[in-house]
Amino acid sequence: MCCRAKGVWRLLELHIMLITMNIITHALLGWSAGTRLSRQGKDVALIAVASMLPDVDGLGAVIDIINGGAAHYFTEFHHKFGHSILFCLLLMPIVYWLSRKNIRLTAWFVGIFHLHLFCDIIGARGPDGYQWPIYYLWPFSDIGFSWFGQWYINAWPNILLTILLIFDFLRRSARLGFTPLFLVSRGADSVLVDTLQKRFGGHSES
Ligand SMILES: [Zn+2]
Repeated sequence: MCCRAKGVWRLLELHIMLITMNIITHALLGWSAGTRLSRQGKDVALIAVASMLPDVDGLGAVIDIINGGAAHYFTEFHHKFGHSILFCLLLMPIVYWLSRKNIRLTAWFVGIFHLHLFCDIIGARGPDGYQWPIYYLWPFSDIGFSWFGQWYINAWPNILLTILLIFDFLRRSARLGFTPLFLVSRGADSVLVDTLQKRFGGHSES
């Protein structure tokens, strides 16, 4: 691999790492909103997943890593199909079905989906200074939406927001009596909630 290719590869790795951190912030944002919309763990998980889903179009990076070459699939698809209104419309009936035909929750899914896009536009500038446009109308149009004042993906507003969301997550988990761990193990979730309740107080509301 030549020096230039190594430089591009390091930049891709850095970008992927930062995007992974960004996905965690999106997940926390969705979880925080979800716990204010429903007391049901599955509903909250649904909203949290909805908050992350647009970044599914960044999975091309995995193929690029396996191929060990240039960031072809990542740059070709990131911020395109996952961040488009088409993807949102395709997901709506699935969310409606998963939420047991809950129109309110489905409407909130649309809102959280678009909150993800809004966050990307205002604060997801790449480490190289590149502003990843949102191709909201893809594949019908290649118009990319961006904001000239967009801050860097690792800028202090994102870090501060993430810290506040982590704190909110811990407090809400203690209060509501569940964490995302319930999706994997009820027992482990119960142990974690007990620990959080000892630290943050409160008891399970459900
Ligand atoms: Zn995104």
